[in-house]
Amino acid sequence: MSSIKIGNTEITPTKIICLGRNYLEHIKETNAAIPTEPVFFVKTLNTLISEGKPIIYPRILYENENYNRVDHEVELAFIISKPCKNISADEAFEYIKGYTIFLDVTARKMQISDRNIKLPWYRSKNFDTFSVIGPKVVPSKKIENPHNLKIELKVNNEIRQSSNTKHMIFKIPEMLEYLSKFITLVPDDIIATGTPSGVGPINPEDTLEAYIEKIGKIQHKVILERED
Ligand code: MG
Repeated sequence: MSSIKIGNTEITPTKIICLGRNYLEHIKETNAAIPTEPVFFVKTLNTLISEGKPIIYPRILYENENYNRVDHEVELAFIISKPCKNISADEAFEYIKGYTIFLDVTARKMQISDRNIKLPWYRSKNFDTFSVIGPKVVPSKKIENPHNLKIELKVNNEIRQSSNTKHMIFKIPEMLEYLSKFITLVPDDIIATGTPSGVGPINPEDTLEAYIEKIGKIQHKVILERED
């Protein structure tokens, strides 16, 4: 098992689960259908980085014009505090250790081309360094309402995404009730709650800055994968 430091908190997650299509404005910009149930997918642990590490733009994407678009997605994430299976929405907050910022970096052209031929999102989501987390885990008791937080992402100091977590379609209690019917969540698992609109391309040498009210901000540089 591998652990990662998020500020002063070290966590040892077994999985990262992300919600897709959880903000209406983002669904519109991607021409996707509005879900009637939460849409979730898994990111593998090789993707995970925290403070001080760059996002690596893979050469296999950069050098292929069918795949050369990688997008930022800023998201509120929460960390699980205790084993969680078949829980009800009204007890959901008991299972949350704290909140943090998550960047769900996505190989967008690859995702769209796979989606169009009904393949999973798996490969477009799971390149090394495509999950960024930080700057700290804010204890859940310090954030009374996680559904009223400003959320923002800048690329090279220009605002690209700016919204509020109140616009989530499936709120945290219902998503946790739903997920826990499928999967046993265990302490330190990471759940990312979906991205608002404004997703767009990043490029080598860009600097990304993500902000969520009451949590803080993270800053990461994008670099092109080295040639060996
Ligand atoms: Mg996402």
